[in-house]
Amino acid sequence: MRADIDQYLFRAAVGYGAVAREGVRVSGVDITADHAVVQLTDGTVLRSEYVIDATGRTSVLANAYGLREEPCRFKTDSRTIFTHMRGVRPYDSVEESSGQPNLWHQGTLHHLFDGGWMWVIPFDNHAGSESDLVSVGLNLDSARFPRTREPQREWDAFLDRYPAIKRQFAGAEAAFPWVSTGRTQFSSRQTVGDRWILMSHAAGAIDALFSRGMANTMAVIETFVPTYLAARAEGDFSAARFAPLDVLNQNILDNNDKLIAGSYIAFRDFDLWRAWSKMWYLAWNLGVIRVAGSYYQYVETADPAVLARLHQGPLPGSFCPELPSAQRQFEECFAVMERVQRGTLSAADAVPELAYLLGDGEASPSPLNLHDVLRRWHDGSQETQKLIYDWGRTAAPAALRPYFHYDRATIPKAAEAVVTA
Ligand SMILES: Cc1cc2nc3c(=O)[nH]c(=O)nc-3n(C[C@H](O)[C@H](O)[C@H](O)COP(=O)(O)OP(=O)(O)OC[C@H]3O[C@@H](n4cnc5c(N)ncnc54)[C@H](O)[C@@H]3O)c2cc1C
Repeated sequence: MRADIDQYLFRAAVGYGAVAREGVRVSGVDITADHAVVQLTDGTVLRSEYVIDATGRTSVLANAYGLREEPCRFKTDSRTIFTHMRGVRPYDSVEESSGQPNLWHQGTLHHLFDGGWMWVIPFDNHAGSESDLVSVGLNLDSARFPRTREPQREWDAFLDRYPAIKRQFAGAEAAFPWVSTGRTQFSSRQTVGDRWILMSHAAGAIDALFSRGMANTMAVIETFVPTYLAARAEGDFSAARFAPLDVLNQNILDNNDKLIAGSYIAFRDFDLWRAWSKMWYLAWNLGVIRVAGSYYQYVETADPAVLARLHQGPLPGSFCPELPSAQRQFEECFAVMERVQRGTLSAADAVPELAYLLGDGEASPSPLNLHDVLRRWHDGSQETQKLIYDWGRTAAPAALRPYFHYDRATIPKAAEAVVTA
């Protein structure tokens, strides 16, 4: 339940000393050479040295400075209709099991179809849940399914096309009328300036697929904080100083855009989807390797340089910033998907190309067995994680090995410098 998560994070921020002003909005921001002034709708005027704009899609600074790109630069072009529902049947009760290791109803269920995907997120699926709601959202390729003003009718027509899904929603009722959005994606030409920055969701957004939004925001915060503290110590809040944050913001969005645009291409063919989804599986595992590896090393050693190292790689905002070959692998896989989209490569021929690119990649941990792109279930088991750990200490490329084995000598000098500063 998003509202509960937001409430928790809000209280945590206040607990750590943030001063909250509730029930008012920011009506204007004025940034000059030596300070910033923020006006609130209740007439309060706040003076500060720096402005972090976390106002999301309707970003105050993006509007004030005309930062939005028109049209948005992203390849993904999708829109959403969504609501919360009661009375949604567990999918496991309407369709025979396909041998999956867990019940569909135990997690977030995604229905994928040619031209889009749908989320079904039960909030009522565990003991102790106080909610009887299920979040339901239909994400549609805008070119294939242009926006209409009648989302209820769209929903009914969608159910008529997919009988098994229709059985799942037989008798379900929307808790509030369907909301129909315009294009989900938006982008900004610039995300830092003198004395200001846009957080990730103020800078841009792609699509809810893969649920990477919060992680992207955390990645920007994680890099921003030490940069900001060092800038504060020297009294330098220039755009030039924060330029690496712009690179990070933009790269995160561009890479997520390709991951999701490739998925919309893949939805047309189940084998192609199985193969392309291994790209996501690899990206996810690389993320776990980097973040979990750093965290556990920090717990063991209390050496803050292992945390600073996370944002020292040469390719900020990529799925494996330390390893240029991982980014090349990703770009090459995406190029395969674009050929499918243009009609110059069949889905059937794309699958072995992806198997070759994914399986042979330097960044591909061998325990993930990525040659086998048609494997149906992504393996997140403890056993496989243990094998990845062994791979990391023995066979991983040099750029990744430090995440598996603490050695102060392998930490880049830049990371040590950030910690010292
Ligand atoms: C349909 C959908 C599903 C998603 N699902 C997931 C998911 O499963 N997992 C995930 O990680 N991410 C998901 N995301 C992305 C996620 O919602 C965003 O990444 C995240 O909300 C960004 O957090 P934020 O605090 O930066 O911005 P937001 O959550 O957008 O918050 C911005 C805040 O600023 C406030 N605001 C705006 N203007 C003003 C103003 N003038 N004055 C004062 N306040 C203002 C708004 O009221 C809002 O509270 C999803 C996004 C969508 C659209």
